[in-house]
Amino acid sequence: MIVASRVSTRRPAGGGPYNIAMLAPPWIQIPPPGYGGIEHVVALLCDGLVSLGHNVTLFAAPGSRSSATVREVLPSSYPDAIGNSLYESDHVARVLGVVDEMAAKGHPFDILHDHSGFTTVALADRIATPVVHTLHGPFTEDTSAFYRQHGNNVSLVAISEAQRASAPSGVQVAGVVPNPIDVDDWPFRPEKEDYAFWAGRFNEFKGAHRAIAAAKKAEIPLILAGPIQPGQEEYFECEIEPHLDGKLVRYVGEVGGTEKKELFANARTLLMPITWDEPFGMVMVEALAGGTPVIAFANGAATEIVQDQVNGFLVNDVDSMAAAIADLDRLDPAVCRESVAKRFATEIVCKGYVDIYRRALTSRPPRWPFSEPSQKRRLEVRLGNGRSEVTRRRQSTPR
Ligand code: UDP
Repeated sequence: MIVASRVSTRRPAGGGPYNIAMLAPPWIQIPPPGYGGIEHVVALLCDGLVSLGHNVTLFAAPGSRSSATVREVLPSSYPDAIGNSLYESDHVARVLGVVDEMAAKGHPFDILHDHSGFTTVALADRIATPVVHTLHGPFTEDTSAFYRQHGNNVSLVAISEAQRASAPSGVQVAGVVPNPIDVDDWPFRPEKEDYAFWAGRFNEFKGAHRAIAAAKKAEIPLILAGPIQPGQEEYFECEIEPHLDGKLVRYVGEVGGTEKKELFANARTLLMPITWDEPFGMVMVEALAGGTPVIAFANGAATEIVQDQVNGFLVNDVDSMAAAIADLDRLDPAVCRESVAKRFATEIVCKGYVDIYRRALTSRPPRWPFSEPSQKRRLEVRLGNGRSEVTRRRQSTPR
């Protein structure tokens, strides 16, 4: 069992700078060379928090770069093993070892900000450092049960109001902080080329096949971009490949860097025909940063990111998506860009997280003075009912 040593680290309430351990997933390096929503977010958060004067140590896949101090704990990245608990638990255990070591050396972290999956959340009540966990995935039946069991070990942060609203009963969400974008890093193109764009993972919920149907109906060329991840081959072969003609419907593979940004910025629209409550959707803000309106099915965070008739259109089916394409000229690319700059700029988002860190530090009850788990168990037995004072206090503490 890893238990971070108990060293007093408290800063004045609302103060800082904080020593932040930023825990990225082990799969893909930071920043990601191509696909990688969480990794883009982590990259921007690190840079933004460093700019605000905080000390950030990024624990991420080997090959990562950042203005934060980068620490690689695993020998390799695992882009083809996303979600494999073998690597996730190895990564997290090694990071918690470093957190422990830093505390023992008298340089403890104030906050562990976790983006890595489930392992850290499940173990968070065993370590002394408060954990803030960004919810990157949706609440499903399985994850809801998990967060009911373990979620109150950490300060949970939702990335949209829609995601917060979907939290199951008994799960407290400390706040909503959307994903960031560095708008200046994206080219703005007020003059558009004649194509619609779709970017993402190839699965039923993301709906590339519905984008094809809508584009065909509206008679606009469509460009599709994204990786075909393990398990998505059949969907791609059956639903996408038969429509590729190299002209009206083109697949350009997984794109990155300048090519990707130009594809977003030059498109007449980004099509987002999702049939799931997507908790955020980076592709929408990336398109808008380039002045490209988004036409999205009204699900999940799309209903917050897309402001109907202002920076795009919210629709309910393929036919209304096709009809909306004819109305795109009514929207102003400058307004599209502005709509993300004023809500999702990295600095705004990082200040939101600093507020969450401050609350996590001030609202967390004094840590249990244990240095080994057996001590905690002994005291629990003494207090009766298997529940300690600390457990009781923790459950009633507002976050
Ligand atoms: N992306 C990319 N190359 C591609 C397709 C997508 O770099 O060919 C990026 C895209 O720009 C975005 C991320 O992958 O930053 C996808 O994030 P999003 O939140 O939209 O979707 P999810 O995390 O659910 O896959």
